Amino acid sequence: MLPHSEASPTLQDPEDRDMDDGYTLEEPLTLGCPECGGVLRPLINEHVRSYRCHIGHVLTGEAVLAAQFSLFECRLGGCLALLNERASLCRKLAEDAASRGQDPTQYETAARECLERAQAVKALLESDWIQPAPDFPG
Ligand SMILES: [Zn+2]
Repeated sequence: MLPHSEASPTLQDPEDRDMDDGYTLEEPLTLGCPECGGVLRPLINEHVRSYRCHIGHVLTGEAVLAAQFSLFECRLGGCLALLNERASLCRKLAEDAASRGQDPTQYETAARECLERAQAVKALLESDWIQPAPDFPG
């Protein structure tokens, strides 16, 4: 189900951020702590961009980036697994329907759809991603 928004969102760059399917990408108010899920706030007067959550985890921006990527891979992996499970269940339900003399077409079509969409997720997981690293003067 797509998110519903009654108010027109304020976007910094609506042309670049609007997504065709109704989702929007607005500027996040803050970042989530990758260690505990709490809210991160920026540390002031640091020469390296850093954040602290409300229970004391302190991370550099680069550490947050790395943790975000690990979470991204984990969630995409979960999506891939779920699509694979759904395809498997659809095939089994198609077999059950056919064995009862019912039309299995909807289940078979849904199974193919899952596998096609799983390929898109798999392609994202297998893509090369830029992994920025700090370049501090030595
Ligand atoms: Zn934390």
